[in-house]
Amino acid sequence: MTQPFWISTSWDDGHVLDRRVVDLLNRHNLRGTFYIARDYLPDRLSDSEIVVLAQEHEVAAHTLTHPILTEIALDDARQEIMGSKAWLEDLTGRPVTGFAFPAGIFNQDLRNLAEDVGFRVARSVRQFSIGTTGLDYLDLPTTIHIYPFPFRPVNSWRARFQPIRRAVPHILPLRIPLLALRNWPALATILLERASQQGGVWHLWGHSWEIEKYGMWDELDRILAVASRYSNAQPVTNSELVHALKQQAS
Ligand SMILES: [Zn+2]
Repeated sequence: MTQPFWISTSWDDGHVLDRRVVDLLNRHNLRGTFYIARDYLPDRLSDSEIVVLAQEHEVAAHTLTHPILTEIALDDARQEIMGSKAWLEDLTGRPVTGFAFPAGIFNQDLRNLAEDVGFRVARSVRQFSIGTTGLDYLDLPTTIHIYPFPFRPVNSWRARFQPIRRAVPHILPLRIPLLALRNWPALATILLERASQQGGVWHLWGHSWEIEKYGMWDELDRILAVASRYSNAQPVTNSELVHALKQQAS
């Protein structure tokens, strides 16, 4: 039996440029989960835009002020996490069951806290995951971050090599050909092929403000076009993904 193949995308912070991401997702019939912090970006989506977004895609929590949660008191972290859930539920009139830790930084206490306050899914920023067995849904990994690859355009040599240096230990076990490490679209495409062939999830995540900063809109458009052409793919939000995985397991 062929394994299901899901495609998910997720977008952090709630920047106004998320509108452009939504347009691309809609054009390619794909789904998105938008993790929005209430008081973080000066140019975030308006409340009314978030209400509309929740009707088309998934709106998920990302704290109120986007602190690094491991650096504040646990009680304060609880207010940030619970407060962001309550804010979005009041605003959209819908249950909000997804969460992402700012900068992907958390510990076991914070993971448990997210579960205690009612989140069913917490997305991490780990990359290069395709398989679905043994996943912790409160530490949901991704497949690829839309970000310059293999080199970051900065002056520091150490920082410049960071993307490829971080990727290599995870990519080697996937037996990705070296040629696919030449640029971001090549890597994203081969990971799509792997997920389609072996079943599992291709989960793209990013920040619209970062796509703008690094001039990656055309690359995003092209990879979403490629993704949408897989006839065996099922586009899902992260909550839909976890729901499908739980059903499959039962
Ligand atoms: Zn964030």
